[in-house]
Amino acid sequence: MPGEQIDSAFYSRLSIYASVTTSPGHALVVGAGIFGLATSLELRTRGWAVTLLDPGPLPHKSASSTDVSKMVRMDYGSDLFYHEFAEAALEGWDRWNADWPYPPYHETGLLVFSGEEIKPGSFEYESAQALQERGYEPEWLVLKPNQNRFPTWEEGQYSHGYLSPRAGWVESGFVVSHLLTLAQKVGVDLRIGTAQALAEEESQVTGVLLKESGENLAADTVVVCAGAWTPSLLPWLSDRMWSVGQPVVHLGTDQPEIHTGKPFPPWFADTSSSGWYGFPALPDGHVKIGCHGPGLTAHPDTRGAVAREHLETLRAFLEKAMPSLAKAPVLEQRVCMYCDTFDGDFLIDQDPNREGLIVAGGGSGHGFKFAPVIGGVVADVVEGRDNRWAKRFKWRDPPTQLATGVRYTINYRK
Ligand SMILES: Cc1cc2nc3c(=O)[nH]c(=O)nc-3n(C[C@H](O)[C@H](O)[C@H](O)COP(=O)(O)OP(=O)(O)OC[C@H]3O[C@@H](n4cnc5c(N)ncnc54)[C@H](O)[C@@H]3O)c2cc1C
Repeated sequence: MPGEQIDSAFYSRLSIYASVTTSPGHALVVGAGIFGLATSLELRTRGWAVTLLDPGPLPHKSASSTDVSKMVRMDYGSDLFYHEFAEAALEGWDRWNADWPYPPYHETGLLVFSGEEIKPGSFEYESAQALQERGYEPEWLVLKPNQNRFPTWEEGQYSHGYLSPRAGWVESGFVVSHLLTLAQKVGVDLRIGTAQALAEEESQVTGVLLKESGENLAADTVVVCAGAWTPSLLPWLSDRMWSVGQPVVHLGTDQPEIHTGKPFPPWFADTSSSGWYGFPALPDGHVKIGCHGPGLTAHPDTRGAVAREHLETLRAFLEKAMPSLAKAPVLEQRVCMYCDTFDGDFLIDQDPNREGLIVAGGGSGHGFKFAPVIGGVVADVVEGRDNRWAKRFKWRDPPTQLATGVRYTINYRK
């Protein structure tokens, strides 16, 4: 059975490590979202004893990673680093599709719309240009009246754009659950509990205290992968990363046929300025639409519900752009938490002031797609190995003006 292949692949890597080395040590990974799961699996297969801690139940319903769908794309404007990192991740998704009992990644392409001609310097133009220069052959679109190419979209609303071929979406909830199963199978010790905030003055971290019992969970290395909770767990990081709530709405369609297939892949609609993005209908008729806007800074435990004004703005957008959903019932709504860094890059590094502590987070609204490769990056950092990608995620100080409250606005480039 295909599902057993991946298990046996993990097992055989485990036994290779076991035969040539003694265990490199005991790692405590705090947080079982995609960063924590991928890290736990990779460290375990490298021979580490791994404890994975999360308050649960898992997948944790408030974690950013827990969702029905996430986009996978190489479209990163002119930022070739993320373009190539996503290219490596896509190879990983292909492998997981081939090896897992059920393929979680759907390569549908990504439809990037613009209300006007796309010009050099824009996110849209630079993304398509990067794809073209690297041989991915995006289809540049100029939409004329009566073309009926994308019939679900109101004619005339978007005149330009491109179709990105090496892109799609992934069933993120299934990925998290499956990685959890794999982690447990290869011997990651899953502990249900909540780490207390670490003390700022500690220069050496040798474990965490559990909120529930006060128990000390000791380890040689603590890897904090707590997503949007990271700045409350490690308060000295709050000048460089913070949690930001972003709305996600599921609308119900009684015409799933017009919200799926080639004419309706995942989409961006002037996203670099409007924030709107969305996915094809799921078999249960849910059509997910999100907004990658400025968001609202909030603690992940007190995020509240999607604001009424946001739902009204969504309806107004749909009236103009996608009338078939303008009056569709809201089946689900959720404020999902980004952990934004000041520059939109992840933070994956040893804390320079606290021996034994590694931070792996700052997903900044675009981390899930890297699931197949992120564990390797974090594990290399834990083991002090050179890693091409980790260089971009190194410890860095925010610009001084942030200290006075001027917040960097993240561009959709990242
Ligand atoms: C609305 C939205 C849409 C997104 N869309 C995309 C997309 O289309 N494509 C893409 O690539 N990325 C997307 N992202 C980003 C992506 O989801 C995140 O970057 C990624 O899931 C972050 O994973 P994580 O493991 O860092 O955090 P999380 O998934 O949030 O996991 C953190 C875990 O830490 C645990 N934890 C918290 N505090 C403690 C504690 N004290 N002790 C122990 N455990 C703790 C939590 O329970 C949780 O399970 C989106 C994010 C959001 C919010």
